[in-house]
Amino acid sequence: MARKILKWRCRFLKCGFDKNWVYADDVEAKKLLICMNCGIGTVPKEPVSKSGSWLPCIDLKGLNLRLPNGSPGQDWVDGNGKTFSLEDYIRVHQVHPERFYYFSHSSYKRPEDLIPEPIPQDAQVGDDPAPQETITSADLKVQDAQKKVEGFRDGKKINEMDYIKKLRYLEKLREWKNSGLINDEDLDAQINKTLNIGGK
Ligand SMILES: [Zn+2]
Repeated sequence: MARKILKWRCRFLKCGFDKNWVYADDVEAKKLLICMNCGIGTVPKEPVSKSGSWLPCIDLKGLNLRLPNGSPGQDWVDGNGKTFSLEDYIRVHQVHPERFYYFSHSSYKRPEDLIPEPIPQDAQVGDDPAPQETITSADLKVQDAQKKVEGFRDGKKINEMDYIKKLRYLEKLREWKNSGLINDEDLDAQINKTLNIGGK
């Protein structure tokens, strides 16, 4: 019998990839889901509806510490400064550093095995529309700032290390604002500070 497939959309803002898929029995078994585009992973906690073909949107927490710094073929460094092999990084942080590397360097050519895989043709999959997701004003501001820091790096105004530091800090701000720990004014001020690279 054909295995049932569930589709899911990545909640990492810069990504938003909606062609992720997973076998429904792997979700039942609480297997780790890794976005095929950006490499950020999560384990769904909510029960999966039996009728729909989409997983609910899953909020991503602690991304500031989980975003990896490094390059393929070497060890990867997390937001605490700890070093991991590729396999250990995935196990500990639920992020695939190589996928994330190619995602954040969109002009680099992805190796064949890191290209998102299409849904197998013999699988059982529904065609109901993707669930609506809530995007907050903080999400939009941070997403915009993330694009800017990527531009700084691509324009060689900041190096790779500064880029990932800024990306991590922006994710922290987003989480803080979305959980009510800082207000709009704080968010704007901190985003401006992150984007101010004039003094270097
Ligand atoms: Zn993604």
